[in-house]
Amino acid sequence: MSIAILSTGTELLKGTILNTNAGFLCRRLAAAGLRPVLELTAGDHPAEITAALGDALRAADTVLITGGLGPTRDDLTLDAVSRFFGLELEIDPLLAEKVEQFWSRRHDGRRAPKTVLRQARVPHGATILPNANGSASGIRIDTEYGGRMRRIFLLPGPPAELEPMAEESVIPAVAAYEAGAGHEYTQGFLAAGCGEYSVQLRLEKLLRDRPVELAYCARPEGTRVFISGSAPAEVEAAVEEARTELGDAALPAGSLDLVTAIAALLEKRQLTLVTAESCTGGRIAGMLTDHAGISSVFKGGAVVYSNELKHTLLGVPEELLARFGAVSAECAEAMVCGATERLAADCAVAVTGIAGPGGGTPEKPVGLVYIAAKVGEELRVGEFHFSGDRRRVRESTAARALLLLFGLLSGKEGQTFLPPPQKSLRPEER
Ligand code: AMP
Ligand code: MG
Repeated sequence: MSIAILSTGTELLKGTILNTNAGFLCRRLAAAGLRPVLELTAGDHPAEITAALGDALRAADTVLITGGLGPTRDDLTLDAVSRFFGLELEIDPLLAEKVEQFWSRRHDGRRAPKTVLRQARVPHGATILPNANGSASGIRIDTEYGGRMRRIFLLPGPPAELEPMAEESVIPAVAAYEAGAGHEYTQGFLAAGCGEYSVQLRLEKLLRDRPVELAYCARPEGTRVFISGSAPAEVEAAVEEARTELGDAALPAGSLDLVTAIAALLEKRQLTLVTAESCTGGRIAGMLTDHAGISSVFKGGAVVYSNELKHTLLGVPEELLARFGAVSAECAEAMVCGATERLAADCAVAVTGIAGPGGGTPEKPVGLVYIAAKVGEELRVGEFHFSGDRRRVRESTAARALLLLFGLLSGKEGQTFLPPPQKSLRPEER
């Protein structure tokens, strides 16, 4: 009893589109306590699909295949898989009718060309998986191969078609016949601001004798810790022990993202938040608004890229900008105060820095960022030096700004667990 995922599509191998289907299937399987043993991708060529299918069948009894069921020349999966198992493709009259209707609704009542009717073909003895969101049906083949029963699911490539089909016809079926297999239960949480190596150092020894497996995922805002095992009670106990060890840095079990934690804290304390962003250009506001329901605490923000807007929108004094420059602790502080006053909120974060690749000087190099956070009357300003390209500097800036805010909001100022800024600047220090 084991599962493999085979994605097909030359565009996946060229990197022109991201393989979101495999990730989706893995997440849905994980939620059902199942973990595939192999995940692989093949290009749109019969030989590549056949070779990959052979590999998948060496590793697993159930293979979930995605892509290549459409009407175009590069849609070869159905043919390649049918040939692999020696199954004849037959036109299913009901499916043909459906494909005709689907076509005629979109083409002024015209009849479907012959190539489009290829989508009505079903391998002999296979089961049709209905597709309410497109014309290509999914297919399930139950067949013997290598002396064992195998189950092959062929699923359409477009995520909008694959996802509902997987929910309805695939995951429940796989979960049902994998019911006897060793289930895996996983729980995760974010260790805010912690590096992955230091988290491992603290947890590996602590949980050495427990029947659980640990996994770490480094993120700009900390490390996601995942603990899995076959017994939910064991996993939960290990998660609690790990969270206790990591102290204030550990978000609640199941909480993988900082914005959710920030939203909960703002909600609890009945505080409103605004943002003032220069070098991140709205990224922080974007991350906040990814969270459904943030509107009860997040009012909005200002993207103030130019000195002019820093002055006119947030009231950063022109003299200050002339004296210290836009990338300065003074400017970050003036931005965060201007934001809470002018946008009338209890809390704000402000960032100003040099994302690069141009614009750096010896005194103010690329990667230099000032971040300010304000919660009520409490204010923190930090100087940071981030490395990497423009994207990385902006990503790190947004993550660190959220961490600074989270630290202030959680009441411990984050002193216990946040990586310190290279320079922590308080108003009275200047
Ligand atoms: P196909 O059925 O292979 O012709 O794919 C149809 C559409 O779905 C194309 O726009 C593909 O780029 C997209 N697609 C196919 N496979 C995937 C995948 N694994 N992840 C995301 N999109 C995909
Ligand atoms: Mg394709």
